[in-house]
Amino acid sequence: MPENLPIVEQTLEQLGADTPERVAALFAKVRSEFDQAVTAVSDEVSWHVLRDGWLGRKAGVLALVTDNWLKPSGPAMKPAVGRGLNELRGHVESAIEERRKQIEAQAAERAAAAERIDFSLPGVERALGTRHLVRQTLEEIERIFLRLGFAVVDGPEIETPYYNFEALNMPEFHPARDMWDTFYVDTPAPNQLVLRTHTSPMQIRTMERQPPPVRVIVPGKVYRRDNPDASHLFMFHQIEGLAVDNDITFADFKGTIEFFVHEFLGKSARTRLRPSYFPFTEPSAEVDATCIVCSGRGCRVCKQTGWLEIMGAGMVDPAVYGFVGYDPKKVSGFAFGMGVDRLAILKYGIDDIQVLMQNDVRFLRQFP
Ligand SMILES: [Zn+2]
Repeated sequence: MPENLPIVEQTLEQLGADTPERVAALFAKVRSEFDQAVTAVSDEVSWHVLRDGWLGRKAGVLALVTDNWLKPSGPAMKPAVGRGLNELRGHVESAIEERRKQIEAQAAERAAAAERIDFSLPGVERALGTRHLVRQTLEEIERIFLRLGFAVVDGPEIETPYYNFEALNMPEFHPARDMWDTFYVDTPAPNQLVLRTHTSPMQIRTMERQPPPVRVIVPGKVYRRDNPDASHLFMFHQIEGLAVDNDITFADFKGTIEFFVHEFLGKSARTRLRPSYFPFTEPSAEVDATCIVCSGRGCRVCKQTGWLEIMGAGMVDPAVYGFVGYDPKKVSGFAFGMGVDRLAILKYGIDDIQVLMQNDVRFLRQFP
């Protein structure tokens, strides 16, 4: 029973309620107490307390009113008390039921609000990675050659000496093998394996697989036993190119390279070829492009020459066709290989190639 309602513990006689008006006044007081109490109910717990306090079978306010006011009444007062009690009961029961519905509705609304997503709230920013500068450069180079009709092919990084050397016109003990400091895989002698020193083995694998015409580029990792310094890594990325068909000439080669240099370094970049030697091309050339740092005027990066070496290349040596079953009298072609990491640092003016492999996010974030 609510603590502030001691009057329901007393009889009407004790309360001095000897007229219907005084009885009605007592009921009015109880009702106003109830109205305050029902307004104060805010949740399921306080609602249960209210219900038990007023409708409880033994100690509820209405039970006490019945026991203390109605039952002891004499015939003169009983009708007024009975009427007052009925009205009070009707009011209390309907108000408690009404309050229950309100509290349930509020709870449902709160639950729905908790599930609702507020799109106006600021988002949680997640640190997203970006493509590495080397990957970006690889893809940029790939796109240029894709436009020329080259296909992109992929090959194994662990190779047999046959594909890495022999089929590229370098028999065992050929001095040209010393051009590359090779990592040998620790395998028994007849099954010797190497980490490929260049992407050129895929020239052989591609031509073995298909008859001419061939137009492919081969992006991938290569390995050389170099001591790392500002311009050397022992693992780096190459893109190999190979074009073989019935009448490909040196002019086709030069035009292809010039197109690439214009697309990659800008229309004002020029190219020049210097004679060179590779076992699997004849003639062979080093390709230089205008230094992008000084635009050809001469600077520290180009050692004051105005030129930067960007790739090794040449016409495919006819001896190579013999390894893949092509007829050297019918086909001709050119091949080239470029260091992607080196091109990336030249293009973006980075003076130490090793930062590409250190994965310092402060560096990587500069190339989103
Ligand atoms: Zn320069």
